[in-house]
Amino acid sequence: MSEQKVKRLLFFGAHPDDCDLLCGGTAVQWAAAGHKVKFVSVTSGDTGHQTLSRKETAAVREKEAAASGRVAGIEYQVLDHPCGLEPTTANRYELLRIIRRFAPDVVISHRPCDYHPDHRAAARLVMDTAYIVMVPHYCEDTVLPPVTPIYAYCRDRFEDPRPFRFDAAVCFDGVIEKKLDMLDCHRSQFYEWLPWIEGFRDFDASKMDSAQRREWLKRYLESCRISAAGPDRDALTAIYGEAGKTMVYAETFEQSPYSRHLPLEEFRRFMLP
Ligand SMILES: [Zn+2]
Repeated sequence: MSEQKVKRLLFFGAHPDDCDLLCGGTAVQWAAAGHKVKFVSVTSGDTGHQTLSRKETAAVREKEAAASGRVAGIEYQVLDHPCGLEPTTANRYELLRIIRRFAPDVVISHRPCDYHPDHRAAARLVMDTAYIVMVPHYCEDTVLPPVTPIYAYCRDRFEDPRPFRFDAAVCFDGVIEKKLDMLDCHRSQFYEWLPWIEGFRDFDASKMDSAQRREWLKRYLESCRISAAGPDRDALTAIYGEAGKTMVYAETFEQSPYSRHLPLEEFRRFMLP
């Protein structure tokens, strides 16, 4: 780490588990290389359970996120906003202060076109800081960061108004087990809530051994298309050359036009651990 500059990555997900799913493999590798990564869940995820109360769910989710952060070796903060997030000025300033204090090189979140209203609100809140992060008269109580951050979107499957663009890709085949360890921390999500809401009403993780639970997590990742198939294969081969043709898992990112902008090749290199 002596020669290479320490890079700082700040990821805002709407719920505890979004950061892990969409950027966990990148975070593990950046952290292992000595870079600084912070995950923030903008909501507490409190509505995401079929039997626990909202208060109980929020308490469980905070512990699960902390455990996942320990696995990855990163800071994982869960804000106490209930689900039903709104892109208010107060919320925007709250995120602005978090961004300035962390002083990231890159800020990543959802795109504003997404099925979930909390994802859309988080995206709007984060992207609405891209310009004002360097405007001194916004949040005068918090000092400006030394470097203007770049902003990027994490992958999604939505095609209206336009599909996600595969600007950069980070293969995480070498740390897939660690990423699964992170997801495994979110038990109330991957083994309880998500199977239930997605219609697997007979799903019972207590009857599964650890290998079966692992397989379930892997299948879930693949169902979210967080694997190197389809259009991200082109991005992988552009970045990794021949090796990109056989990679299995990748997290992909699109640079936002609202912030300081890197040339494509530079952004691709920047996102690599
Ligand atoms: Zn979410």
